[in-house]
Amino acid sequence: MNTSARRQVKEIVEQMIKEQIQSRSLQRQKPLVVANWKMNMSLEKALHFLNSVQSDPQEGTVVICPPYPLLYPINIAMKKLQTGVQLGAQNVHWKDHGAHTGEVSVGMLQEVGCNFVLIGHSERRMAGESEEAIQHKVKQVLQSGMYPIVCVGENSEEFKQGLTSQIVKQQIEAALKNLPNISNMIIAYEPVWAIGTGQSATPYQAEKVHQTIRQSIHDLHGSIAQRIPILYGGSVHAENARSLAAYENIDGVLVGGASLEVKSFQSIIRSFNKELGSA
Ligand code: PEP
Repeated sequence: MNTSARRQVKEIVEQMIKEQIQSRSLQRQKPLVVANWKMNMSLEKALHFLNSVQSDPQEGTVVICPPYPLLYPINIAMKKLQTGVQLGAQNVHWKDHGAHTGEVSVGMLQEVGCNFVLIGHSERRMAGESEEAIQHKVKQVLQSGMYPIVCVGENSEEFKQGLTSQIVKQQIEAALKNLPNISNMIIAYEPVWAIGTGQSATPYQAEKVHQTIRQSIHDLHGSIAQRIPILYGGSVHAENARSLAAYENIDGVLVGGASLEVKSFQSIIRSFNKELGSA
């Protein structure tokens, strides 16, 4: 095959992949709704919360990421209540054990019932977490069989300069390169300017960035990209959840502020289950 024919074939294949990514209706999975409680909640309030939030695995997955000291008692309460809600952590270290004051390992999280863990949240990146540390953490979590939720997203300056695609591509590449098996991977697109500001990305803006992320995963790991859940996070609330859920590449949400109140969190879960629960 000559060079020009080869280029034509490459262009046709690239176009086909782009179309598959844009239209995923047959590949969409059940939704994933994740609560990031950050440094909020008392044990008493958390237990009350758990009594009121249910998750039907037929409709989707609900995960709660409380602060570390609440993981153990919440795990006990979850076992008793059998609500179907799952447990996640907000961070992890990449070593098994050792002199790392203030850190916790994957094994410790598993012992208290965690299946999910947030990695590279922008609040941690701002506190100095490097791409290298994020990559070590992702590797360690995948090896353990847990699900890493890797957060990516541009800051306000980068957004204004039109650098969103470039930034998320770099962050995806840094976190996902050289990994043998990414089948447990979950990505959360969280534009930093939207976190806790009440100013969410529009569902269309989010969908476009999710397409870019899926393409980047495809470039690194091939067709498994279609099955990797990509969540949106950044001022998700009861009113905008339904319109986010309507987009093909928005497989769920990572919710901060609105996950602290039972009513708003339940409403977000319902919106996603209605839109995607029968997928
Ligand atoms: C977050 O910090 O992960 C987040 C999405 O926060 P909020 O929903 O409050 O914007």
